[in-house]
Amino acid sequence: MRTPLIAGNWKMNGLSADARTLAEAVSDGVQATEGVETVVCPPFVHLPLVRAVLGNRVALGAQNCADAPTGARTGEVSASMLADLGVGYVILGHSERRQYYGEDEALIAARYAEALAHGLRPILCVGETLAEREADRTEAVVANQLHGVIDRLDAEVGLGNGVIAYEPVWAIGTGHTATAQQAQAMHAFIRQTLALRDSLLAERMQLLYGGSMKAANAAELLAEPDIDGGLIGGASLKPDDFVAICAAA
Ligand code: PEP
Repeated sequence: MRTPLIAGNWKMNGLSADARTLAEAVSDGVQATEGVETVVCPPFVHLPLVRAVLGNRVALGAQNCADAPTGARTGEVSASMLADLGVGYVILGHSERRQYYGEDEALIAARYAEALAHGLRPILCVGETLAEREADRTEAVVANQLHGVIDRLDAEVGLGNGVIAYEPVWAIGTGHTATAQQAQAMHAFIRQTLALRDSLLAERMQLLYGGSMKAANAAELLAEPDIDGGLIGGASLKPDDFVAICAAA
């Protein structure tokens, strides 16, 4: 059985005092939650202070990592620097990185390989835009995003112990959540796509749904057989909501 995983993506929100308050509230709130892997992903600059206040029930994640181990990459943060701070997870290929910073599969794959090489668990985000869904291209787009990364990784290592987040772009930050049926259909498709390469990997890989998941809709989404958790944006900034989602998992 796959352990449920709930990861909060704080994006570019909050000053240090806000990060501390939020981390303390999440850490306290999940004390009673059993059997769920819980992760928070603050902005880079808040990682050390969040690490210091998180209890041992909540893991630390970053929102990206560099595509190279060290050296001339101004503005980037390496996977080894993150590991050194106690970071265990890293979000990669988020649609905001693809949309605003032009990240493509080659770059995302290089970041992914770096993350694995330094013991971080990548959370690889994939998902279609509304125009792509309306043009009936959802599966083709997601398959391309997956193959574009997998084909560039070391064949022996593959996706390693990573996690995949299906995040339809039209559902992110919009309040328009995919229906449980829509999300389940895409999660099943992703698992089948992985199984064509490695059936054991497909069976054990945690697949998260992301896109306006909140306390009110989490239980229905998480009840689907191929939805193993959530990547939570807006609701992760509200500790009561985030803790309620963890409890629903
Ligand atoms: C996200 O940014 O990964 C996300 C899922 O955001 P939201 O929950 O706000 O839609």
